[in-house]
Amino acid sequence: MPVTIQNFIDGALTAPQSGAYFDTDEPATGKPYARVPDSDAADLDLAVAAAQRAFPAWKATPAKERGALLIKLAELIEQKKEAFAQAESVDNGKPLYLSRDVDIFRAIANLRNFGSADLDALNQTFEKDTSSSYTLRQPIGVVSIISPWNLPLLLFTWKLAPALMAGNCVIAKPSEITPMTAYMLSELLNEAGFPPGVVNVLHGKGASIGNAITAHPHIKAISFTGGTPTGLAIYQGAAKQLKKVSLELGGKNPTLVFADADFDKAVAGVVASAFTNQGQVCLCSERILIEASIYEKFKTAMVEKARQITIGDPLVEGTQHGATVSKAHMEKILSYFDLAVEEGGTLLLGGKRRIVEGRCKDGYFVEPTIFENLAPTCRINQEEVFGPLAVLIPFADEAEAIAIANGTPFGLSASVFTGSAERGTRVAAAIDSGIVWINCWNVRDLDTPFGGMKHSGIGREGKQRALEFFTEEKTVTKLK
Ligand code: NAD
Repeated sequence: MPVTIQNFIDGALTAPQSGAYFDTDEPATGKPYARVPDSDAADLDLAVAAAQRAFPAWKATPAKERGALLIKLAELIEQKKEAFAQAESVDNGKPLYLSRDVDIFRAIANLRNFGSADLDALNQTFEKDTSSSYTLRQPIGVVSIISPWNLPLLLFTWKLAPALMAGNCVIAKPSEITPMTAYMLSELLNEAGFPPGVVNVLHGKGASIGNAITAHPHIKAISFTGGTPTGLAIYQGAAKQLKKVSLELGGKNPTLVFADADFDKAVAGVVASAFTNQGQVCLCSERILIEASIYEKFKTAMVEKARQITIGDPLVEGTQHGATVSKAHMEKILSYFDLAVEEGGTLLLGGKRRIVEGRCKDGYFVEPTIFENLAPTCRINQEEVFGPLAVLIPFADEAEAIAIANGTPFGLSASVFTGSAERGTRVAAAIDSGIVWINCWNVRDLDTPFGGMKHSGIGREGKQRALEFFTEEKTVTKLK
């Protein structure tokens, strides 16, 4: 029997007002396994009213006490971390090792990291001859967070924790495609000690509950992570009420490999950057730019390394590559492989759905796929596929590599592999993206600013930036 997920409103698990639910699949089997509330504006009104009631007392609660509740929630998740990891893999299709070592590990770290933040450190003072001023950072009120399916609990907590630490009451909407771990978290909120109404979790589709959040007059800010078209719709909707928005959107990230790089480290880094989480990390690299003098040797080594990735049931230990998140997403990825062939690409590895025998025979598995001979300007090198795809592109020199790297509408992240420290610094400064890694990929320090340029987003997350987003700044001046 499928599990029935509930909303969490005013401190209680609650069925949707309409009584309507929809099914969600386990991507590794293609079978429905959970019923998700199809929430709408009526559920939102209840949640916002509860959040408004809770706000004055929550705002007045000392930050240290708010942080202690976040840390308590982290402890409760940690006690059940294996159940959370299993649920994340069932819901998303990702291998268990990733759910354990990345998703749930980071969710716990997010809660602890923001729970121990020093809010006073955000304030500034200004001393002049005749006046002295100081700034205060105060909570906004009722805010919303909207998160995607690729790193479900990780990104949900990445937004929830700073919003709460800053003293806001929250309407949280996880992706309807992966609702399970947010539901499990909501079951722990009372035990952690959060007063009713401080956190409200609403499940449902973007077109209904998502739009209702954007349009709601009493939600003062939205922190969103997801696709660029959705981000644009939220931005436009929020503008009508001058709502504050933070948008973390898609990417078409380049990895640049120079001939002087440590060859083996670069091959390992590039394979990880292209295929981790079935290529469904916003930071994954779909464009691999390789200096022409090592192109053939690098291509051979990369294809060989990617061929060794173990594809299989995400719940079986040792699986490195699980299922993509849904049938629709699998079909979208496969249609891009067809496009790459139409655009004249040469397939070097993969290129199709993989049937995994047994329990997973109807699962949404897509092989790690590598193409070459595709111009940097063709669609496959311009649009985000968000799957296990790498296109190899040779370059003649540093200037050409930078021009290709910057030649898309996106600007989220980039990696540079080089043996020259000067070149690494120079290229990092020249690339138009919010994040650049030198001789590594996806090394994350939670205190550093995180976010994208161009169509990859507006604003930055990370310790200080997220706390700034979720607060209003006030300047107080007095004469000396
Ligand atoms: P999506 O935009 O389809 O959905 C994200 C969330 O927005 C979901 O909760 C969805 O229900 C909600 N939503 C959809 N339509 C809405 C609307 N009209 N109003 C309000 N909410 C709405 O994205 P996805 O497919 O879940 O995630 C994949 C995308 O997310 C990729 O483009 C990926 O690059 C991006 N992403 C970016 C980052 C980052 O940090 N920049 C991180 C992870 C994922």
